[in-house]
Amino acid sequence: MSKVVIAVDGPAGSGKSSVSKAAATRLGFGYLDTGAGYRALTLTALNNQLELETVGELNLGELFAYEISTDPDNYWVRVDSGDVTEAIRSKDVELNVSKVAAQPKVRAFMRDITRSIARNCPKPGIIVEGRDITTVVMPDAQTRVLLTASEEVRLSRRSIDLQADGSISAQVSDRDKKDSKVVDFLNPAPGVQLLDTTELSFEESVAALVDFINR
Ligand code: C5P
Repeated sequence: MSKVVIAVDGPAGSGKSSVSKAAATRLGFGYLDTGAGYRALTLTALNNQLELETVGELNLGELFAYEISTDPDNYWVRVDSGDVTEAIRSKDVELNVSKVAAQPKVRAFMRDITRSIARNCPKPGIIVEGRDITTVVMPDAQTRVLLTASEEVRLSRRSIDLQADGSISAQVSDRDKKDSKVVDFLNPAPGVQLLDTTELSFEESVAALVDFINR
């Protein structure tokens, strides 16, 4: 395991991915995006025309040859050795990922993959970000942070990311609503520090996270 583990959770558009990645670069740490695993599994299920609601019943270890970079300056995601870094951001994946992520067997599979990738990261520390990292996957992390922003700010950040087509706002709120039925990533669990970036610029958010970690 990397010596230091930093767990960061938060809703869509909170900025947790870009802020965690930049903080990892600054600290010389690895960075692990756990949402990418759920997205890549959803893409695999869609491409193979599998029933999304029951994908967790399959032998995921066999179905899903998954790899992800933990280098914050060279991010990529692969399935069966093929690059899916861009494909996992598609609208089809966005619309369906919550159905896959809601299944307990999928979550247990992703939890184990996440721990194994973090353990094998060669850097002195790793920032792991997602929805259930502070509570389920890495509850013993040295620093645990819930990164949030007001809904308005999250939607505007997200629509810039996705080049909004008018339906993005509904999609993001809808995904958060579905996801939050499975995991609470809107309220900090005991011992988890809250970082509200509503009033912060990107640079200020990165500095605040680095400060939390250094403290
Ligand atoms: O973080 P991102 O928006 O890429 O996550 C995509 C989806 O993966 C989320 O909407 C959620 O359904 C799922 N997810 C999860 N637990 C995590 C990370 C992501 O359920 N730790």
